[in-house]
Amino acid sequence: MEMKDNYGRPTTSLRISITQDCDLNCFYCHNEGCEKEDREMTADEIAKIVEIGTEFGMDKVKITGGEPLVRDDLTEIIGAISQLNIKDVSITTNGVKLGEKVEDLASAGLDRANISLDTLDSETYEKITGKPVLDKVLEGIDSALDVGLHPIKLNTLMLDGINDGEEIERLMEYSLGRGTILQLIELEKVLPENQKIYEKYHKSLDPIEEKIRKRADDVDTRWLMQARRKYLFNGGEIEIVNPMHNSEFCKYCTRLRMTSGGYLKPCLMRNDNLVDVLTPVRNGSKDGIRKAFETAINRREPYFSEEEK
Ligand code: SAM
Repeated sequence: MEMKDNYGRPTTSLRISITQDCDLNCFYCHNEGCEKEDREMTADEIAKIVEIGTEFGMDKVKITGGEPLVRDDLTEIIGAISQLNIKDVSITTNGVKLGEKVEDLASAGLDRANISLDTLDSETYEKITGKPVLDKVLEGIDSALDVGLHPIKLNTLMLDGINDGEEIERLMEYSLGRGTILQLIELEKVLPENQKIYEKYHKSLDPIEEKIRKRADDVDTRWLMQARRKYLFNGGEIEIVNPMHNSEFCKYCTRLRMTSGGYLKPCLMRNDNLVDVLTPVRNGSKDGIRKAFETAINRREPYFSEEEK
């Protein structure tokens, strides 16, 4: 049974961080808004939590990290979740290890993938991530397309002075040419230590969106996904993800998060309202898990509100 929060918003998607480890070191990373934790959920524990989440109307699960592909049991996790009443199982990955594992993941029930790609230039890629592995990522994208994952989304974070000029044009061409969806993401200031990076690299998506709007065949709004606008082109799409100071984004947010240490997290931007869901799992209390979901959903509130506009 669907449960709405105190602002009338349903909670239909669960974004689960399964590890804090990552094989890249992107200088802007918000770590999914998570602070360091000293415990990690097993595959079985994740599945038990998701199962109860479905009772509250959650039917979409996104697995994230850190980097989800550094966990050896990712296939097991995907397999267990896809047995549940979930209609969409996806991952967000840097793509480095995707080529090696995507076939197994697809067989286990993975429906689709978001792959982070901020640049097509090897030097810039290394500057952003600390590793010279762009070729591996591009191979990973091709492998994901080959096994038929659909849609594949490319997550491109707009960084002032790094990829905001011709690079974005190249990425659009690359993405539209492959039938993937390009998601242009605004840099967010989530953790206090990201403040300086935000000041230096944040760039509004408005000017690029204006250009895209003029060229697109049509525009659509994903009301059930933070009211994101997507621009349709013959054979492709570009989606705009601009959360900062955007009350519409929050008003239409349907997402609950889970940290790798097993805390339900009502909002990316906050850590003062987490709810421990792993302890009731370890105590074998289904009612305790239900209670944790109820509490977390009741703690959901729009971070950016209309008054702030
Ligand atoms: N390692 C995986 C990956 O690269 O996709 C999953 C974790 S990563 C934190 C998930 C997404 O968050 C990536 O697409 C990344 O670009 C985005 N991201 C990271 N830091 C961000 C920030 N400060 N603002 C906005 N998006 C950010």
